Amino acid sequence: MRIGVLGYQGGVYEHVYMLRRSFDRLGVHGEAVVVKKPEDLKGLDGVIIPGGESTTIGILAKRLGVLEPLREQVLNGLPAMGTCAGAIILAGKVRDKVVGEKSQPLLGVMRVEVVRNFFGRQRESFEADLEIEGLDRRFRGVFIRSPAITAAESPARIISWLDYNGQRVGVAAVQGPLLATSFHPELTGDTRLHELWLRLVKR
Ligand code: GLN
Repeated sequence: MRIGVLGYQGGVYEHVYMLRRSFDRLGVHGEAVVVKKPEDLKGLDGVIIPGGESTTIGILAKRLGVLEPLREQVLNGLPAMGTCAGAIILAGKVRDKVVGEKSQPLLGVMRVEVVRNFFGRQRESFEADLEIEGLDRRFRGVFIRSPAITAAESPARIISWLDYNGQRVGVAAVQGPLLATSFHPELTGDTRLHELWLRLVKR
């Protein structure tokens, strides 16, 4: 199994490391590769879009000619996982908590709506124990300037919720082999979410 990690900015090597550990735990022969150029998209079984800054990641992916072919591949069934900024890149509809609607290059392949910076700034970063459908026990969610998933339409489905200031918002969603999380599983030692997604890739 060959999994690419979009490698322009953000938690790239954290995902590579999590993937290697997950391959071991699942007993699959896997390879994690960093994707920067269109050629790097060849022969992938799945792709991860890391956290970081979604505008930066999207602009670079577009400028380097990766965004369009990647969108094509995902629309043709390539499994993808996006964490935090990566979830924003996957989302079909994006707005910012402060500045509202603003155009930015996205893949836009999931039928979810996200609100960027929903939980505030860097200093409002927090952790929360999350109930996630498909996981045996709670998962520690690390939220750093994270988006909230405020709506999902079939075939997308929210699989984890968080109560925040009296509002219940989505923090993880799936759509077939696509998985988006508001938080950063790559910043914990816990590989269960990567394993869950890799099982979708294997299918
Ligand atoms: N706030 C960032 C964005 O909008 C995401 C933050 C993150 O990935 N940790 O892209």
